[in-house]
Amino acid sequence: MNPATSYVIRCSACRTKNRIPSDKVGLTAKCGKCGILMQTDDLLIETPVVVTDNDFDAKVSKSPLPVLLDCWAPWCGPCRMIGPVMEELAAEWKGRVRVCKLNSDENPQISARFQIRSIPTLLVFDNGQLKDTLVGAVPKHAIVQKMASYL
Ligand SMILES: [Zn+2]
Repeated sequence: MNPATSYVIRCSACRTKNRIPSDKVGLTAKCGKCGILMQTDDLLIETPVVVTDNDFDAKVSKSPLPVLLDCWAPWCGPCRMIGPVMEELAAEWKGRVRVCKLNSDENPQISARFQIRSIPTLLVFDNGQLKDTLVGAVPKHAIVQKMASYL
């Protein structure tokens, strides 16, 4: 993928998509629709974001970017195969997709809410809505394919 010349983030207030030129990343931007000030620091994150029951809504539902959430547990062998892939994708998708991790043992509310029965399970969210689910240690290219419309 070529270096991006601009990024798209959703306003936290009105949920409108705003285009952010790459030279404005890290600065405060103003929503073109409602005028609220938006932080663009999110576009600089290049490692997976840890999500819990308590901050799921803030970090996933209200994310300015589409979200890929890896639901995992420390004892799960296949989860350990997905872990490094998530690290890679977080770096490769910097500014495009927020890659998140949720320990399903420690966060039973979210696991129950999305009826996670086996791990790893990858959940795809956009604008606060669950859009897609990938179950099992799927290969990286399958994840990339699934996320193509968000990249
Ligand atoms: Zn707005």
